[in-house]
Amino acid sequence: MEPHEGFGLPVESFPKDFSYHGDDGEDAVATATSSDMKPRILIMGLQRSGKSSIQKVVFHKMSPNETLFLESTSKIFKDDVSNNSFINFQIWDIPGQIDFLDNTFDLDMIFGGTGALIFVVDAQDDYMEALTCLHQTVSKAFRVNPQIKFEIFIHKVDGLSDDHKIETQRDISQRANEELHEAGLRDLHLSFHLTSIYDHSIFEAFSKVVQKLIPQLTTLENLLSIFVQNSGVEKTFLFDVVSKIYIATDGSPVDMQSYELCCEMIDVMLDMTCIYGDETDDGTPQDSTCIIRLNNTSILYLQEVTRFLVLVCILRDDSFTRRGIIDYNILLLKKAINDVFDVRLRQGKQNGHLPIEGRNNLMQLSTSANA
Ligand code: GDP
Repeated sequence: MEPHEGFGLPVESFPKDFSYHGDDGEDAVATATSSDMKPRILIMGLQRSGKSSIQKVVFHKMSPNETLFLESTSKIFKDDVSNNSFINFQIWDIPGQIDFLDNTFDLDMIFGGTGALIFVVDAQDDYMEALTCLHQTVSKAFRVNPQIKFEIFIHKVDGLSDDHKIETQRDISQRANEELHEAGLRDLHLSFHLTSIYDHSIFEAFSKVVQKLIPQLTTLENLLSIFVQNSGVEKTFLFDVVSKIYIATDGSPVDMQSYELCCEMIDVMLDMTCIYGDETDDGTPQDSTCIIRLNNTSILYLQEVTRFLVLVCILRDDSFTRRGIIDYNILLLKKAINDVFDVRLRQGKQNGHLPIEGRNNLMQLSTSANA
């Protein structure tokens, strides 16, 4: 492993004020308020459904066993996770027993600027009460802000067999959708995820939620697909280091095992950096590179892209003989990713499109790899 092998090449990190929310179009309405341009994710659900645990495990590196000692949430809790993370949003942990009919709650304020609403349903408990609360919550939220993405986490599925998981998801989605149908809310779409803090499913689900809030996602995915095709790499992920949420991946399907391997590699890299690394003033690693050879002829190759983002590639060891091309392509990819996020600052209203410079980089990337 080579934990600190910087290139020393002039690829800058993102300026701190880069954000990934969109313009004033439909997408942006869903994710930003006028006073606070950060996309907001709300986590809601009944008491003891696992909301605080999810937040602590995903964003605060708490081990799942420690969540047994968490106090139950009893007030609205705002957690701004933007400080060390590329992901620039707020999580509002709202306790289950809030009464929406109580006029003291400003629903416009709560739902108005929300990008995604995650509703947590405890799959190990009787979920009928949770479904009633889910229906009330999403219908209220939808009326205030129809742009919200509604994400249902069928949570604590570690206690269920595979068959039972599928049956629970089918039952919950059928009941929830039927109620919405009866209430005439046909345009309200619910997405369902099976999650547990005891495996990587919670990170995977959070990744999907966050990706829906990134207007530049398609461009990023295209960039990663072009990179993979031209570098002899099998799979690649762009990760937010702190949360291990993947911001984007190439077009090939994601298999859970590869994702877990990449997450573990990031942990190794962070641990090594903490102990032996050269840190920047704010404690984040700098110019990190990490290579791990697995015993099945695969290689995991990690390179830092910005202060908050790393690229993790999975490739066969015979492809790694062309490391020069891979490194060169990563360099161009970093530049293109910077351009994608910079486009808003430099070209005003061009939501989701690559600037001229970014397109040129892509063309160079294919040429160099084919050479
Ligand atoms: P909250 O009131 O919704 O914030 O719920 P908590 O986060 O306090 O969690 C309630 C209990 O559920 C705690 O004892 C957690 O350890 C447990 N819990 C949370 N997530 C999971 C999970 O994925 N699987 C299992 N088995 N237990 C969980």
